Amino acid sequence: MALLEVSNLNVYYGNIHALKGIDLIVNEGEIVSLIGANGAGKTTTLQTISGLLRSKAGSITFNGKDITKERAHNIVRLGIAQVPEGRRVFANLTVSDNVRLGAYTIKDSHENLKRDRKNFYDVFPRMRERKKQIAGTLSGGEQQMLAMGRALMSRPKLLILDEPSMGLSPLFVKEIFNTIKKLNEQGTTILLVEQNAKMALAISDRAYVLETGRISLGGEAKKLAENPRVKQAYLGA
Ligand code: ATP
Repeated sequence: MALLEVSNLNVYYGNIHALKGIDLIVNEGEIVSLIGANGAGKTTTLQTISGLLRSKAGSITFNGKDITKERAHNIVRLGIAQVPEGRRVFANLTVSDNVRLGAYTIKDSHENLKRDRKNFYDVFPRMRERKKQIAGTLSGGEQQMLAMGRALMSRPKLLILDEPSMGLSPLFVKEIFNTIKKLNEQGTTILLVEQNAKMALAISDRAYVLETGRISLGGEAKKLAENPRVKQAYLGA
């Protein structure tokens, strides 16, 4: 059984038919990416999975449970955490407070929450140095790390990342992709949307190509990276 199964998802913005029957699955332990041009429907897909948008038809099953009509805060409790495009940290709070707030859905002992925070700072040592810094003054890449870390504090089974590399310098892009890989190796399943198709395919197990609201291709990431159509349209070959 797949961890996440999306079938025949149809989403509208008023009269605009943004998703025209999306089917995709994410298995436990995988990194799966969704690539596609601007406006293809990538963000719409992620937001519908997270419960921020409603579908008109189709279903979403997570961990064996139908979550199609579930509310966003319940979806977080069930184990899906999303880092939206443009990060969105609490800009006026410190790094440390942002990290603490990420665990708001978790009822657990003080010691265990403390251990979670330690794990976070171990994965993102740069954040440890900046615990007291006001989040809004972090660089773009640092805010991305903090946003990812905050999402992880809810102990998600599935981490959804929307354009984590957007607007980052090449060095940071590399660091973010390395971090995603590391998080996956530590057991987090990941669904990733990226404009940087090359990097995304390089770290993913499988991928889907989205074109104007439809999945046009899907399969093993390595094979997609060799596909002439993918190369021409998304890999700048
Ligand atoms: P990008 O890479 O540019 O972020 P995307 O693949 O994430 O693109 P979406 O943001 O999902 O694409 O948009 C899919 C389609 O739905 C686009 O045609 C977009 O204009 C439209 N759309 C998105 N949000 C809205 C909205 N709030 N109201 C109306 N149309 C919308």
